[in-house]
Amino acid sequence: PFEKSKGQHILRNPALVDSIVTKAGLKPTDTVLEIGPGTGNLTKRLLEAGVKAVVAVELDPRMVLELNRRFQGHPLASRLKVIQGDVLKCDLPYFDICVANIPYQISSPLTFKLLSHRPMFRCAVIMFQREFAMRLVAQPGDSLYCRLSVNVQLLARVSHLLKVGRNNFRPPPKVDSSVVRIEPRKPLPPVSFKEWDGLVRICFNRKNKTLGSLFKQKRVLELLEKNYKTMQSLQLTQDAEMGEEKMSADDVALLANMVEDLSMETGEEKEDDEMEMDDTDMGGDGRTSFKEKIMGILQQGDFAEKRGSKLSQVDFLYLLSLFNKAGIHFS
Ligand code: SAM
Repeated sequence: PFEKSKGQHILRNPALVDSIVTKAGLKPTDTVLEIGPGTGNLTKRLLEAGVKAVVAVELDPRMVLELNRRFQGHPLASRLKVIQGDVLKCDLPYFDICVANIPYQISSPLTFKLLSHRPMFRCAVIMFQREFAMRLVAQPGDSLYCRLSVNVQLLARVSHLLKVGRNNFRPPPKVDSSVVRIEPRKPLPPVSFKEWDGLVRICFNRKNKTLGSLFKQKRVLELLEKNYKTMQSLQLTQDAEMGEEKMSADDVALLANMVEDLSMETGEEKEDDEMEMDDTDMGGDGRTSFKEKIMGILQQGDFAEKRGSKLSQVDFLYLLSLFNKAGIHFS
C-alpha cells in the first residue's frame, strides 16, 4: 500500500510520536503546519495537544482520503484542515510552528522554502535522514560541515533533538533518522544572500584547499573582476554602495532555488583540472594587480592560509565585509 517514490514510511512507535510533540513546545494559540501527514499518527497527537489548528499538506490523494476518514465525525476534526498537494509547489498557509515527518527526498528544498516563508514561523521540528540532520547542525571543523550547514545556520539556529532508528517506521527506510529543531533568526543578519552564497560556494569548492589557493583560480578571479568592473561602470563606488544591503525575502527565496543540489553534496574532493590553474596563465598586468588586490584582502583578515571547513558564521561575515568594503562582490 505504501509508495517508495513518495517516501512513505509511517511512524509506528507512539512513544516516539509523543516525544516529538512534546519537544515541539506547542502553545494553545499555535497553528501547526504538518507536511506529509500520511495516515495521521502524528496529526492526531498534534490535535490532542490542544493547538488552535493543524494544517496538513499531503501529496497522495489516497492518504488524504484515509486521513479524512480517520477524523470524520471526530471532535478534533474541526481544528484540522487537510490540503492535497505538493508542499514544494503550493503556497504555504500561515503557521506558527511546523512539525513533520517528511519524505527525505525533499529535505533541502523544503528547508529553504520554510526559511523563506513570511511571516517567519517560530520553530520547526522535523524528522530528517540522519546524515542530512548532521550536516544541518555541523560546526566548523566537523567532517560534515558544508555549504548546507553554513547557509542554514545563517538563517536559523539548528539543534539535534532525537536519534531515531529505522525500525520505528513501517516499512523501515534504508537509513536512520534524526529529529532536528530549526529556529529562524530574528532579525536575520544584514547581508545579501546572493553575495553570501557566492562567497561560501568559492570557500567550499575544495574542502581542503586554503582560501589563498581557491581565490587564485582563474575562474574565480575572472568572475570577481567582471563583477568589480560592472559595479564600477554602474558607478557604485565604495561609499555609495551596497554595504548596508539587507537580506530580503526575495533574496532568501532565491537561495531556495540555488541549493537544491545541497543535500547531495558530499564535500569530497572533486576532480577539476581548472583547479590547478593560477597566475601562470593570467595574462596582462591588469589581471595580476587584481589578483594582488584579492590576496591583499585575504591577508588583511588573516584568511589566506585558512580553510572554508574551519570558518564560522562570524568569520564568513567578516570576510564578506572586507571584500565588500574593497568593492568586491560575489553576485
Ligand atoms: N507523517 C506520517 C507519519 O509520520 O507516519 C507519514 C510520513 S511519510 C515519511 C511522508 C509522507 O509525505 C507520505 O504520506 C507521502 O505521501 C507524503 N509526501 C511525499 N511527498 C510529498 C510532497 N511533495 N508534499 C506533501 N506530501 C508529500
